[in-house]
Amino acid sequence: MKPTRRAPEPHRSPHTERGTTKDLAHFMLYHSTRNPQEVLTSREAVLKGLAQDGGLFVTDLLGERRIDPASLTGPYADTAKRVFSALLDDYTPEEIDQSIAAAYGSTFKCPLPGDVTPVTKLGRMHLLELYHGPTAAFKDVALCMLPQLMSRALAGTGRRLMIVTATSGDTGKAALAGFEDVPGIGITVFYPEGGVSAVQHLQMATQEGSNVAVCAVKGNFDDAQTAVKNLFSSPITKELAQIGVSLSSANSINIGRLVPQIVYYFDAYRQLLARGVVHAGDPVDFTVPTGNFGDVLAGWCAKRMGLPVRRLVVASNANNVLTDFLLTGVYDRRRPLHKTISPSMDILVSSNLERALYWIDDMSAERTRERMESLKTKGFYQVDAELLAKLQATFGCGFADDAATMDSIRAAWEEDGRLIDPHTAVARRVALENASPEVPMVVLSTASPYKFCRDVYTALYGDLKTKAAAPEAAAFEYMDALADATGVEPPASLSNLRTKPVLWKDVEAIADLPQYVLRQARTKLA
Ligand SMILES: *Cc1c(COP(=O)(O)O)cnc(C)c1O
Repeated sequence: MKPTRRAPEPHRSPHTERGTTKDLAHFMLYHSTRNPQEVLTSREAVLKGLAQDGGLFVTDLLGERRIDPASLTGPYADTAKRVFSALLDDYTPEEIDQSIAAAYGSTFKCPLPGDVTPVTKLGRMHLLELYHGPTAAFKDVALCMLPQLMSRALAGTGRRLMIVTATSGDTGKAALAGFEDVPGIGITVFYPEGGVSAVQHLQMATQEGSNVAVCAVKGNFDDAQTAVKNLFSSPITKELAQIGVSLSSANSINIGRLVPQIVYYFDAYRQLLARGVVHAGDPVDFTVPTGNFGDVLAGWCAKRMGLPVRRLVVASNANNVLTDFLLTGVYDRRRPLHKTISPSMDILVSSNLERALYWIDDMSAERTRERMESLKTKGFYQVDAELLAKLQATFGCGFADDAATMDSIRAAWEEDGRLIDPHTAVARRVALENASPEVPMVVLSTASPYKFCRDVYTALYGDLKTKAAAPEAAAFEYMDALADATGVEPPASLSNLRTKPVLWKDVEAIADLPQYVLRQARTKLA
């Protein structure tokens, strides 16, 4: 007879009781998408980030942890508590409360108290504003929470962690801000040289903190991400172990980032319910500007947990590998990477898609492993017609190139009276192509327009005849001009950048990243 999984007993942690397999059976277990054999609790999965075999941590019980959206009536923190307790159940209720208070208590600046991710109007559609956190991009929602989860999992173990992250722009700063001076944890961020906006670059290069390092990489984002992934199986892990340090990641592959993102889908629905836009059980569509597939995957998780989501529309820029995949079933990364005005979506390998494939393809680790192997060695994989049909039943898709993105920024301002950033503009455009009148469409807004003020200003008013030589100086001229022209205030965290000193100028070749990380660990954590 198969052992049945009992309901979790609150207040028990396998880590305070020297966990045995029997203890583990009380908790929701996680394992690699490529191998179901080795299981971990959520605390361990949060600390490890990525599985040894290169797979991503998943749980097979996602669909059993349902939340009735009609029962969500409190503020964001209440919704968060429901989702965290369901999926990270080896954290005590006190740990979850403290983490939520530290992550969201005062860090998000929204018009209404208690809000973290407000829903507002965008013409006939709705805008889920995810950019009110400390670095003005949606990654704050997850990266305010992840350090809380990690430091609580680490407490009392005597271990130390080096977080290594590759960023296409927004993750890096959000992670640096979240981990700044967190005891026992160091953070190293790599970004593609010349591949991030002037404001994004300044945000990272001015980062303070005794435990941080910021470094440009000679290569694009995919090169940097691959190099970071390879670190986990490289010889430096042994050298780090000798000084008591393990590697972890803050990339969107960590379940400690995925879970906080599920919260705002539920919370958006709560807001639509409270406003009478939907009645309990009515379906809603979401359009998500997508790069690594983390954000849209969180929406899929919310659906699996009982949120009445009809369609999740995957919006891409000119790097439309996901559009092609969802139309044809062939995921093919063998194509040039285009630099666009929505750089956080300039990605050819969307890591989190691996989780979606695992869950949707009947939780087959074997087939997931084969596909990822094919992607690595051949540069592509193809799913069969049955799986493609399953994917298409939920995921819509579309893309907008830079010209269409500029049009969308202009139309949002002129027709909807909303100032939106290029990533949001991609989603708005694709949402309009996929919206149907009978189901409300929620567009996820992932960054403040002021993070990309040059392109936003140019879309609305044309080039500014700037005399500034440095892109950073020009960025502030655009910031001021955009504020003057639109009357929309920039977030203080961005306008303050002009007075901050640049602290980080490191540049490294891909091959030298392991040694760079080792040096940082030795100087910051030893
Ligand atoms: C990271 C990011 C995205 C893409 O999110 P994924 O989870 O990688 O799909 C979109 N917009 C902005 C502004 C981002 O920073």
